[in-house]
Amino acid sequence: MAAKLSIRHLSVRGKRVLVRVDFNVPIEGSCVTDDTRIVESLPTLLFLREKRARIILLAHLGRPGGKPVAGLSLEPVFKHLRKLLDDSRNIFFCPECIGPLAEAAVLALKDGDILLLENVRFHAGEEANNSTFSAELAQLGEIYINDAFGAAHRAHASTVGISSHLPFSATGLLVEKELYYLQGQLESPKRPFLVLLGGSKVSDKIGVIEALMERADKFLIGGAMAYTFLKVQGIPVGDSLVEVDDFGLAGKLLTLSKDSGVELLLPLDAVETLEIQPGAVCRNTPVFSQRRGVTRGWIGVDIGVKTRALYSAEIARAATILWNGPLGVFEIREFSSGTRIAAEAIAANSLSVSIIGGGDSVAAVRSFDLGNKMTFLSTGGGASLRLLEGRPLPGIDTLTEKK
Ligand code: AMP
Repeated sequence: MAAKLSIRHLSVRGKRVLVRVDFNVPIEGSCVTDDTRIVESLPTLLFLREKRARIILLAHLGRPGGKPVAGLSLEPVFKHLRKLLDDSRNIFFCPECIGPLAEAAVLALKDGDILLLENVRFHAGEEANNSTFSAELAQLGEIYINDAFGAAHRAHASTVGISSHLPFSATGLLVEKELYYLQGQLESPKRPFLVLLGGSKVSDKIGVIEALMERADKFLIGGAMAYTFLKVQGIPVGDSLVEVDDFGLAGKLLTLSKDSGVELLLPLDAVETLEIQPGAVCRNTPVFSQRRGVTRGWIGVDIGVKTRALYSAEIARAATILWNGPLGVFEIREFSSGTRIAAEAIAANSLSVSIIGGGDSVAAVRSFDLGNKMTFLSTGGGASLRLLEGRPLPGIDTLTEKK
């Protein structure tokens, strides 16, 4: 991706700056239960406030399907933001994101004020990237900043269409940080460069393996995706999750790893259970062989003790670690040890650069209270995977190029 104009390059004093943020946070009742994404956007908001811009925030929440849904209003987010900024005087909410009400709210802004507009997905034009809708959003401001990394892989009106109506569009500080770690740091990583992949679907991660095969020194595979690779090698996997459609690709990647000398390590053993439920009976399998794997009728739900020891030793030797996807069903305590031990091994390797690629792996690391021991936690699941695959992010690709 060509280098993009940054918020730091623009003169924003007194200007109406439209900032697309990722405020898609979990809400229960009217309370935000995890404010990570809001907190991550604060540096950009404080930067713009310090520079005395008039800040207009665009965001989405959930999937209202193009019409107003009371439970998906951004008002609770606004109240939370007001608390976080500790200064409720200059922060406003508008229950519309386009039209006369939004225009009046923008007109009333003074330098340094912040205005959050209502959920852009209350309009069908948002997800359709409709140009009339993006023009209506754009005419509220003079400059566009995209700081919604978590939504940058989506070509919607407030992430893509909008920038074509404005003379300048630039990256915000969060997007800049995400690009620095997920692109810059991994371009010429400190070696050994280890890629740890898990989660439920091989199909989601295959692109990442292919793209990083040339740069990584070793892949460690865990989670449900491991069973597709094990099955291809003829190891019994019982009732574990496998993706039959991906057998061909998994086989191709195993061959590619052999040919290129980049090791792709698979679990040596597993924790198996009869049902994926808290409190379910579980046990460690023997070390896998062609004859012995996950027992028929049982499901592999975590990497086993031998695998944990092997993976921890590899992690301890790595200089750069990229992790995407939990190594087991970490949401259930009995099946979370493999993921926890991997997170602890990364935390213990304090000299390494550790990049956690968003979504469930970040949730896992946080649930073990190890978030502050990692170099970087990405805020975007889908967006980070796409970037790691080397594919462009539409929400960033369309920003003004840095001259
Ligand atoms: P992903 O979104 O592909 O990163 O997948 C994350 C999900 O994978 C989490 O909800 C985990 O519970 C799930 N997962 C990890 N390992 C397994 C497994 N062995 N069997 C079933 N689900 C798994």
